[in-house]
Amino acid sequence: MRILVANDDGYLAPGLAALVEVCRGFGEVDVVAPEQNASGTSNSLSLHRPLSVHRSAQGFQYINGTPSDCVHLALNGVLAQRPDLVVSGINNGANMGDDTLYSGTVAAAMEGYLFGIPAVAFSLTEKGWPDLEEVAGVAREVLRPLVASWAQARPAPYLLNVNIPPSARAASFRTEVTRLGRRHASEPVVRQISPRGEPIYWIGPAGEAHVAGEGTDFHAVEQGRVSITPLQVDLTDHEGLPAWRARWSGSWA
Ligand code: MN
Repeated sequence: MRILVANDDGYLAPGLAALVEVCRGFGEVDVVAPEQNASGTSNSLSLHRPLSVHRSAQGFQYINGTPSDCVHLALNGVLAQRPDLVVSGINNGANMGDDTLYSGTVAAAMEGYLFGIPAVAFSLTEKGWPDLEEVAGVAREVLRPLVASWAQARPAPYLLNVNIPPSARAASFRTEVTRLGRRHASEPVVRQISPRGEPIYWIGPAGEAHVAGEGTDFHAVEQGRVSITPLQVDLTDHEGLPAWRARWSGSWA
């Protein structure tokens, strides 16, 4: 099995090295990751400048672009062989609820999924990679059955978003298959004055969990479980379709 490993925190991130180590236990590994931290870049592609690929001392390839750039280039010319699985992370912090829309970690996996390859995004729900070794062990156990089933029959592509709390232990963790929760709107922007007297702004922190009841990713992680959310890409409001169709056929009342 060939596994492509990417992330959004950059090729020097400890979470990437830990995930690469895990994946080497399952097959041939290629690493293509951003040169710099590209968290929060979502699915953006760099369309207006060229991209360069370099190789680090550990053999990781890195690109001066976004996570989606990395996987896109990897699959479209940089790698000699197409991977069988795309794995992203282990991210520095949670990617739950609305985070998934902004996440570069999820986007890197999604890029693989868009190319028809099964893909898994891993995030450690606390920043600073606490207990990274144990969390990587959990990632290994999450991947193990996926790799085993792949060996039996090539699966239809899927996209899994996995959030691991730092308390999870490889020998004894519990998983829960979840739906995405929702966050409150982000905190306000932070306004400051630059040393040259100009107002500058920082995007504020993400909002607190808002829809976090049973069955959500937030709830599972709160209970110390590993949250596994199967994602899809179709943003259509399927439930709302009939009502919108009715309105456009003339009845805007
Ligand atoms: Mn990140």
